[in-house]
Amino acid sequence: MTIDRFRTLVPLLIAAFGLLPGCQNPRPVVPGSIDEKRLVRADEEPQQWMSLGRNFIQQHHSPLKKIDTANVATLGLAWEYNFLNSRGKVNRGLEASPIVVDGVMYTSGAWSVVMAVDAKTGAEIWRYDPNVDGRYARKACCDVVNRGVQVWQGKVYVGTLDGYLVCVDAATGKEIWRADTFTDRKAFYTITGAPQIAAGKVIIGNAGAEFGVRGYISAYDAETGKFSWRFYTVPGDPANGYEHPEMEMASKTGDPKSDWSAGGGGTVWGQMAYDPELNLLYVGTGNATPYPIWYRSPAGGDNLFLASILAIDPDTGRLKWHYQTTPGEMWDFTATMNIVLADMKINGQNRKVLMQAPKNGFFYILDRTNGELISAKPFVPVNWADSVDHKTGRPVVNMANAWYKDSGKYIFPGPPGGHSWPPMSFNPTTGLVYIPTIDMAFVYENEDNYKFRPGRDNMFARQTPTPLPPDYAHYGKGWPEPEYEVLKAWDPVKQKEVWRMPFPGTQNGGVLSTDGHLVFQGSSTGYLLVMNATTGQLLKKIYTGTGIVAPPITYELEGEQYVAVMAGYGGAVLFFPGEQDAVAKYRNEGRILAFKLGGGEVPLPPVQKRADTVSAPPAKALHPKQIEKGMLLYRSYCSFCHGGFGSGHYSEVPDLSAMAPVTHEWFSDILLKGKLSYYGMSDFSDVLSPDDVEALHQFLISVQSKRYQQQKK
Ligand code: CA
Repeated sequence: MTIDRFRTLVPLLIAAFGLLPGCQNPRPVVPGSIDEKRLVRADEEPQQWMSLGRNFIQQHHSPLKKIDTANVATLGLAWEYNFLNSRGKVNRGLEASPIVVDGVMYTSGAWSVVMAVDAKTGAEIWRYDPNVDGRYARKACCDVVNRGVQVWQGKVYVGTLDGYLVCVDAATGKEIWRADTFTDRKAFYTITGAPQIAAGKVIIGNAGAEFGVRGYISAYDAETGKFSWRFYTVPGDPANGYEHPEMEMASKTGDPKSDWSAGGGGTVWGQMAYDPELNLLYVGTGNATPYPIWYRSPAGGDNLFLASILAIDPDTGRLKWHYQTTPGEMWDFTATMNIVLADMKINGQNRKVLMQAPKNGFFYILDRTNGELISAKPFVPVNWADSVDHKTGRPVVNMANAWYKDSGKYIFPGPPGGHSWPPMSFNPTTGLVYIPTIDMAFVYENEDNYKFRPGRDNMFARQTPTPLPPDYAHYGKGWPEPEYEVLKAWDPVKQKEVWRMPFPGTQNGGVLSTDGHLVFQGSSTGYLLVMNATTGQLLKKIYTGTGIVAPPITYELEGEQYVAVMAGYGGAVLFFPGEQDAVAKYRNEGRILAFKLGGGEVPLPPVQKRADTVSAPPAKALHPKQIEKGMLLYRSYCSFCHGGFGSGHYSEVPDLSAMAPVTHEWFSDILLKGKLSYYGMSDFSDVLSPDDVEALHQFLISVQSKRYQQQKK
């Protein structure tokens, strides 16, 4: 038995005995045996990766160092696992951090499918498909992704796209219990985030703030699934009473005549954290609906608890403290980015801190015992606020730059944020945080005539990204050119950049750092990149042919260190990939890729075949008024996912100006009967009438006819 193997087994045997008091003989290890004791002492068994961020402090950093700067050049493929579900091969985004414990990897993919695979070979042990209702694809702003599972005391927990918290057996993948977490099934709620375990409970949030929902998290007993408590992140109409005391407090920070129809937003879909010593659950909340405060809460106000970090007592569901990163949020400045805990020396004092790099572009260090702001500095170019006031903890908003009510404004960061959901990592050895940053500006414009529109987006702020189209170019005059995707090493104590590595891609992935002095990141262009932790020097670049947005993880088995990552392009960028992205060249077939020293080449996925000819649309009498109406409907309901027409459309979402004859034949059944809902194309019977569908079809036939005629020339 090697020393490493021995180290693996000792805590397991202790754990096994601990589970079975009075038992004389050691029992075989129970699959998925993670508990609080074991997670808190994760550094004693660094070969495991036991939570989304490895340990309870969620640093996305590993002490493993067999793969290091000297030998990483030989890193290659150990195994691959191809994602399948009952819908066939998965071509949607994969965003989860897998969990590895005792030789088994547990993870989740698109459509909330969960799997357990042998971490040494990639062989599937079991697969659990919750068969989510395909109609929920339309309720998801940003693809049918799932950001991971939690494994706890022999059970695996997942939140499904259609709103269930499901507990399955870690040994078999058999469903043990499921809870319906949605308060309103008509509203556009979805779940894409991972659950969090805290004090014997499983906590789950949801998403949907772009469409108009009211955010909340719910807690259930981890063992039985019994509902425990619910914490709303924004108040509802006070006329209906307050669900819990914090709602009375929050309602005082908004206009009593607020618009309640859109729910207010504040959804929780990011990575939470839990400190068992303080017994505090840390939760980041999302953006507002609608974005403009002048529609939502006309008299203004902070609108708690939008874009905030909340510390909640998991036993009672009561708020212990809160810190709002963006009071009166109106720019999609979500604060659901991953929360990292650390103990560090700041100004000569040992502090228990919490770090977050939310969308608003400031890097925050808070005292996690009480929510006090320690420091906040911009980690990307920021113009919506000049600074964060240290005394009040509030941003000093630059109204001239940021208030877009009366005229369009060029604002950075934009809605994707200075940092979005792909997790950053913190390396306690170098003392650096590695942040996948986005340097991008957007022109924000007010949309007139606000009225909540059920069944579709409710942002009411038009957002035009850089690079700006010619008719918007004047907005960018005098501002620096954006750099887009830049990996940054950030010194949190000094609040300053140490190195940067710009890398092309529409969205690059989350980050892993290791004590091998390495930083790992995937790119949407299909690379796994490895950098030196102190210099940022690119040490290794492995081409996979699959866009990577998820964060890599690492583990050790039988003395061999592995780095694994879920590869599958998608998320918010699913609908508008660029020419440089892997999905433009290869089919976006989701995989788990595991690497080791001396490994092989990564097999490339099948080449993406795009029809370069448009087939003849069906002969049909077209009426100009119907075409006009269809165009408006297309803009309202279709372009969100299907985008524009013609060349330059690299997405796996079909281009509706080149529909196949069978799609035309099924057109009405697809839209009104959900004929393809199983594949992610929802039915729209709640918002479109048969006449609307006819108008839409005429519009699309007219576009396809033009393309067909041009092609003949
Ligand atoms: Ca958002």
